Amino acid sequence: MLLRLPVSVTEAQQYLAEGAVPVGGATLVWATWQRDGFPEQAMSLRHVPEANVLGPRSLGAAVVLERIDDRVPRVLRDAAASVGTGAVRRAATVGGNLVGSALRCLLPAALVLDARATVLEPDGVRETDLTEVLAKRHLLLGLHWREPLASAHCKQPGEAGGRPPLVVATAVHEEHEEREGHTASRRLRVAVRDGYGVLTGSVPYSTGTADNTDNADGTGSTGTEQLLRTLRHSAFHTLSPAAWEEVRRQVTGVLASAG
Ligand SMILES: Cc1cc2nc3c(=O)[nH]c(=O)nc-3n(C[C@H](O)[C@H](O)[C@H](O)COP(=O)(O)OP(=O)(O)OC[C@H]3O[C@@H](n4cnc5c(N)ncnc54)[C@H](O)[C@@H]3O)c2cc1C
Repeated sequence: MLLRLPVSVTEAQQYLAEGAVPVGGATLVWATWQRDGFPEQAMSLRHVPEANVLGPRSLGAAVVLERIDDRVPRVLRDAAASVGTGAVRRAATVGGNLVGSALRCLLPAALVLDARATVLEPDGVRETDLTEVLAKRHLLLGLHWREPLASAHCKQPGEAGGRPPLVVATAVHEEHEEREGHTASRRLRVAVRDGYGVLTGSVPYSTGTADNTDNADGTGSTGTEQLLRTLRHSAFHTLSPAAWEEVRRQVTGVLASAG
């Protein structure tokens, strides 16, 4: 196997056109290759600058999970820290986790950030959404998003070989949207990994409406209950009461932080 190490997107594009298979830290793919045979060419993006960005609004696909720190929103940082063991996090990459792993612990965080994906195709770079990246297994160069006002993440402890542990991720973004005569100024997004599936829901809210100003978080307890009810009846009606309690706890906290 020839390991390609391009130093630019143009070079990576050339290797992709030649059939090079993307590789991150090889924490998953190595065993598969040993079992099924190695590809002729593999390509790591570790020297491509666009795949190594790490900041408040972007994250490169070649970034190793262990490097993800407080430059990115909390939800993504905590999600990266929750993956596997220290040894896995020292080698595994963002691209390998999102595109290559079955668990995809980074996915709920990326979804609540409403992240867009930059992908490389044989005919060039383009932007798309995460659903398409996962369905078509595009070569991911990186993610970018709008900085949230607040975000949170939690992963429940799991048993080795058991059902994947519950993951809840939330984020609040500033947003201006006209709806039925009211202007919603924020949007709360929630994603829950329940088993191997990920449920997502979002709801707009305003911080200044009359019945919504009785709490420090700006939504008021009435407002928070209404948002929770809307979410429960729309996207999250299949969640168990215990999982929903976790969502409720986190939503209440993130709305208070977004204050
Ligand atoms: C002991 C152990 C525990 C783990 N626990 C967790 C966990 O708790 N949560 C969790 O989410 N995951 C877990 N994982 C999976 C872990 O996240 C993956 O091993 C890792 O993310 C794969 O990353 P990698 O960079 O090593 O990918 P690789 O093994 O290099 O590649 C995996 C696949 O992704 C593809 N790929 C790699 N980079 C890109 C890219 N930029 N664009 C498109 N495709 C790409 C490769 O072609 C390959 O098909 C665990 C793994 C191990 C071994």
